[in-house]
Amino acid sequence: MVLDKLGEALKNTLRKIAKSHFIDEKVIDELVKDIQRALLQSDVPVHLVFDLSKRIKERALKEKEQPGITKKEHLVKIVYEELVNFLGEEQKGIDIDKEKKPVKIMLVGLYGNGKTTTAAKIVNFYKKRGYKAALMQLDVYRPAAYKQLKQLGDSINVPVFGVEKEKDPVKIYKKYEKDINKYDLVVIDTAGRDALSDELIDEINRLNKTTKPNMSILVVGADVGQAAEKQAEVLSKSCDIKGVIITKLDGTAKGGGALAACSVTDAKVMFVGVGEKIDDIELFNPKGFVSRLLGMGDIEALLEKAKEVMDEEKAAELGKKLSTGKFNLVDLYDQMKAMRKMGPLSKLFELIPGLGNLNLPKNVLQVQEGKLNKWKFAMDSMTKQELEDPDVLSRTRIERIASGSGVSTSDIRDLIKQYRLVKKFMKGGKLSQKNLAKLMKKFGGKLPGM
Ligand code: GDP
Ligand code: MG
Repeated sequence: MVLDKLGEALKNTLRKIAKSHFIDEKVIDELVKDIQRALLQSDVPVHLVFDLSKRIKERALKEKEQPGITKKEHLVKIVYEELVNFLGEEQKGIDIDKEKKPVKIMLVGLYGNGKTTTAAKIVNFYKKRGYKAALMQLDVYRPAAYKQLKQLGDSINVPVFGVEKEKDPVKIYKKYEKDINKYDLVVIDTAGRDALSDELIDEINRLNKTTKPNMSILVVGADVGQAAEKQAEVLSKSCDIKGVIITKLDGTAKGGGALAACSVTDAKVMFVGVGEKIDDIELFNPKGFVSRLLGMGDIEALLEKAKEVMDEEKAAELGKKLSTGKFNLVDLYDQMKAMRKMGPLSKLFELIPGLGNLNLPKNVLQVQEGKLNKWKFAMDSMTKQELEDPDVLSRTRIERIASGSGVSTSDIRDLIKQYRLVKKFMKGGKLSQKNLAKLMKKFGGKLPGM
């Protein structure tokens, strides 16, 4: 996960709250200190940490909890809200107007921060959303820059405009100026340098005047920490930096610094890079981000859902079935279908303080819709005995079911595997009946057939 260490520290803090018997000033003080420590360790500037923790403390001491939620939950809510505020507004991404194409985005930043990779990621992101997108390589400084981008572009079937040995980026731009008009979005990659040199600033300045981008975006690696602010500041002199993309959030403990630094500049964090692969980019969404950090899914949903009532008896019944391992394929199927609607089970657990740390294997009850359909077909071809006791499913039986249902044997084996996985997990006692009932109580209103 992104910013694992910070997340871990914050989660520990919240666990402490969950365990404390009552919330008094001492507990609040401790909470604030823990949060300060966690943020400082992830490189968030000291003055920002103190501002934030001061606000949390003030609110915690002053505010009364709303009806329907406990004092503890209210405290968690304050922490959540303040962290979200701290990170800034939710971003909608690049504003692409098909009527005013091409929308040109110029990426700037120092060498090695992920510009070229990110250029391809952005284009892929918008291509998948139905826009016609292209890439342009104006980095004439780094050998093989064109090849690198071309390779990326080819991998996602997007044209890459560039000239391999040309030394003047302005010439390259002019050469393709007309060609790019037919694209909704053109992402322009530029050269970086090792440091914020005058040479770089001059070059960006020149490119800015030539290409007249709709928007320039600073690409900065999370590992630079607080230095991100300086980069945004200096590079803003040569172009109008409207957004920041923080890359490599997956690989550093210091990402809090870059995020915080950028949140105080005018340029907002638009996307975050969370891995080396082309899909490893996300619109920056402070709410989702903080929720994940705190390991509670969406706390707002928690608060909303906490109010929902549910038939406790039925919840207990289902909880009992699952936790004793006495469930059949049909139960499993119903469960998975319900879970699909609500998101991964692990996510649901995260919604309930105290359950977020169950370390549920990922995807235990989460499967894709397509797969679920296939399993449904396969199950329709099974006998009652097979449904109730999947252990009898021998190879010949699986083959019979496969030919009867048109589902491949490997899909059927997957279903059996899934069944065993869930069974083992439930039997392992990690998921006590009490916890399950608690979970069902919160969400049961949505379980089909209940
Ligand atoms: P540029 O010099 O700014 O164009 O940087 P590149 O795009 O060439 O990227 C430099 C290195 O960072 C490459 O090895 C990328 O794979 C890697 N990189 C870029 N973005 C991310 C990210 O979000 N996560 C991780 N782990 N690596 C990234
Ligand atoms: Mg590059």
